[in-house]
Amino acid sequence: MSGLSLGNRWLARLGDGMRRHGAAIRAMQWAVVLFYAVLLVIPAWLPLPDSQARMLDNLTLFAQFLFWGLWWPFVLLSIVLFGRLWCGVLCPEGSLSEWASRHGRGLGVPRWLRWGGWPTLAFCLTTLYGQLISVYDYAQAALLILGGSTVAAVAVGLMFVRGKRIWCRYLCPVSGVFALLARLAPVHFAVDEQRWLANTAPRLPPPNCAPLLDIRRMRGASDCHACGRCSGQRGAVQLIARSSNAEILDADPRSVSLWDARLLLFGVIGLAMGAFQWTVSPWFIALKQALAQWLVEHDVLWPLDDNAPWWLLTHYPQLNDSFSWLDGASIVLYLGLSALLLGGGLMLLLRLAARLGRQPYLALALTLTPVGAAGLFLGLSATTVKLLRYEGLILAWVQPARALLLLAAIAWCLALGWKRLGRDPAAPTRRLAAMACLIAANGGVGLGWWLQFWGW
Ligand code: SF4
Repeated sequence: MSGLSLGNRWLARLGDGMRRHGAAIRAMQWAVVLFYAVLLVIPAWLPLPDSQARMLDNLTLFAQFLFWGLWWPFVLLSIVLFGRLWCGVLCPEGSLSEWASRHGRGLGVPRWLRWGGWPTLAFCLTTLYGQLISVYDYAQAALLILGGSTVAAVAVGLMFVRGKRIWCRYLCPVSGVFALLARLAPVHFAVDEQRWLANTAPRLPPPNCAPLLDIRRMRGASDCHACGRCSGQRGAVQLIARSSNAEILDADPRSVSLWDARLLLFGVIGLAMGAFQWTVSPWFIALKQALAQWLVEHDVLWPLDDNAPWWLLTHYPQLNDSFSWLDGASIVLYLGLSALLLGGGLMLLLRLAARLGRQPYLALALTLTPVGAAGLFLGLSATTVKLLRYEGLILAWVQPARALLLLAAIAWCLALGWKRLGRDPAAPTRRLAAMACLIAANGGVGLGWWLQFWGW
């Protein structure tokens, strides 16, 4: 402690305080659970708001703003700023899953459940399904997706390992995204393994690390839920500040899984861009018209009907908002193409950059994390802006702020890429050629966002 800077001493005290006040954190978690349940369940049983309804006099609109306008974009932002503090301290699903696991069967975790692809698959399917049932716009759709996820979290808790968060560790649809974004956090619980080993007589009881991490060997913030329960353990665990670049630049490729890169390139960037864009994309309209024309020419008319139930495709005829089967198929196709073409293009560019710059592909792929995070924040905060504009706010500063955020994120990615490429004594021309690939990759992502907010 004595060798720490003032800022780090303060952070270490904060971490220790989190451990000491674990009971207060748990009480806060239950308050969040209650708040979440009220805002999720009650609006789903209320009538749909009419066109005159406003956020401050209509619970449904208020809940919509809290969930999609504040909660979701700012949880993502909090992960970039503080690591996965949300997971360890506030997330209602995590709290419920851990609570359920204390009363459950306590079975071991089967091998199939530990498959590394679940978070990617769950994120992609949830994103796609959310678009099909317009999760941002309707309370019953939100209840179905968020409530369904909570029920699954509790069920997993009831089945596996007492007192742990198996759901959060292996299955949660956003855990993979949070793990990627937390690499950028400027604070984390750092472990000094030498001190851990040297101090074999701990005065503190062993902590309950709910996501089942091997605390002694933990490196970085990616998997840690920042719950603070292990702070000060053996005098070797401390909350400290670090460079936001550290975990990406120092990434040992053996600690990065192919699923991390797939989730970032195909999910967080490719699929998410399609999900945020399809409602304003002229390409989506062209795709749908081409499919409709083909169907009419072949006398196949049933896909033009909008008779699917609301839990399969958006169906609110009283508001003139119903998707036909063709709409649904076009959304699936558009999002799928967006994920495959953009994600595939990025993967090829990064593999080429890795070959040219003699760097591991996985380490270079992680350098796109800032632009992935910025894209998610821009896309999600578009709902915030839309809802606030319904309330009459003009928000003229939003477009310049978006441009600034996007440019800053791209500059950050390029700086990370340049530094990572500098790790190897590759010939300068090779480094420059690899850098050209990274510029093309970042430029492609930037172009996608430019089309959404300025081009179309
Ligand atoms: S290592 Fe585990 S116990 Fe320690 S802060 Fe992270 S999640 Fe909590």
